[in-house]
Amino acid sequence: MMLIVKKFGGSSVATPEKIKAVADRVLRETSPEDKVVIVVSAMGDTTDELMNLANAISANRNTREMDMLLATGEQISIALLAMAFQAKGRDAISLTGPQAGIKTSDAHTKASILDICPARVEAELAKGRVVVVAGFQGIAHTNDITTLGRGGSDTTAVAIAGALNADVCEIFTDVDGVYSADPRVVPSARRMKEITYNEMLEMARLGAVVMQPRSVEMGKRYQVPIHVRSTFSSASGTIIREEYTMEEKEFIIRGVAQDNNVVKIAVLGVPDKPGIAYKVFSALAADHIAVDMIVQSIRNSDKKINDIVFTIAKPDLDQVKEIMAKIGQEIGVIGLEFDEDVAKVSAVGAGMFGNPGIAAEMFGALGDAGINIEVISTSEISISCLVRKDQAKDAVTAIHNRFFKQR
Ligand code: ADP
Ligand code: ASP
Ligand code: MG
Repeated sequence: MMLIVKKFGGSSVATPEKIKAVADRVLRETSPEDKVVIVVSAMGDTTDELMNLANAISANRNTREMDMLLATGEQISIALLAMAFQAKGRDAISLTGPQAGIKTSDAHTKASILDICPARVEAELAKGRVVVVAGFQGIAHTNDITTLGRGGSDTTAVAIAGALNADVCEIFTDVDGVYSADPRVVPSARRMKEITYNEMLEMARLGAVVMQPRSVEMGKRYQVPIHVRSTFSSASGTIIREEYTMEEKEFIIRGVAQDNNVVKIAVLGVPDKPGIAYKVFSALAADHIAVDMIVQSIRNSDKKINDIVFTIAKPDLDQVKEIMAKIGQEIGVIGLEFDEDVAKVSAVGAGMFGNPGIAAEMFGALGDAGINIEVISTSEISISCLVRKDQAKDAVTAIHNRFFKQR
């Protein structure tokens, strides 16, 4: 008997036929004694369509109501999938995130899972039912429905797998594993048999949407092996785990990621004195705004003024504009600029630690391709460059070609 959590993304359940095919596949690949939890996303582009509906009502939406709306997408797909199992003679039950005991913070539209109380899921499994859980949603201490940010169903699946101590968490999607770059952008990208939690976390954080970053954190915390594989084939995909077991460590760079979802903000002419950066970034932190790349440069040392440039995620832009307008007045700045035509491209690999040539090679690849670098940031296992958005695809390809030459 195995305890298995399988997650199917939006494209895997986009139509009634696909939902029926998911039920068929699960029944084919599991035995009646297995305990099976299925986590599903909303059908196809439902979440985008719901966001468009909200946009049609107002540009300035209340995030609680946004969650109330977005959570409906997954409620459709769980009910349909449970019906598909029942129609095939297998007992199944659908549960919303709150019913499945997923307790979250109250940061609407980007809540974190704080705890899982799996009693109901366990009770249903004990009755021999397939349990179909809505991804992407939970409930806050306020008793309000929350959502976990785009791609959040991955996190639901891995968190449930951790809470139930599942044997494996399988993420079924429209690609057959994790590649060295988005295979839709770089057709020559290589599929990896394995990747470590740390490297996958960095790839995801830097824009590889195949896994939501928090899901990888969750996998690492609970040591749940994650298998990323295709819904449309039975081939095995990529295993995300703590350490490599095979030959894969030979690459210094594991992958190249791209994030188009960034905005560059320039705070121009801020006073060059202690406490200013604190004022700007603490105001943003107070509203749960994650700031990414940060650069401070001297504009005019005589006049003692600086420029501060940083990046944020695009969904936070409206909120950041409001916060910065207030802070700008308070500290007295010359100007504020918001640039949405940028993208971040990154190289990721644990092997780059202590290997100074890697940054130079990456900059060389971009330089040779005629691509200008606007901001640079590094971590122990990644280097990121901000470039013009219309050059991002060329930038990813150039970096990938440089590090994944035929070996
Ligand atoms: P789902 O709806 O199943 O959650 P997503 O669209 O969220 O699917 O994630 C799958 C997509 O991730 C792929 O279609 C692919 O374009 C993209 N992707 C980005 N980077 C990578 C990568 N390094 N490896 C594989 N897929 C990637
Ligand atoms: N439906 C949500 C989204 O589109 C969650 C998910 O698919 O993981 O982001
Ligand atoms: Mg996804």
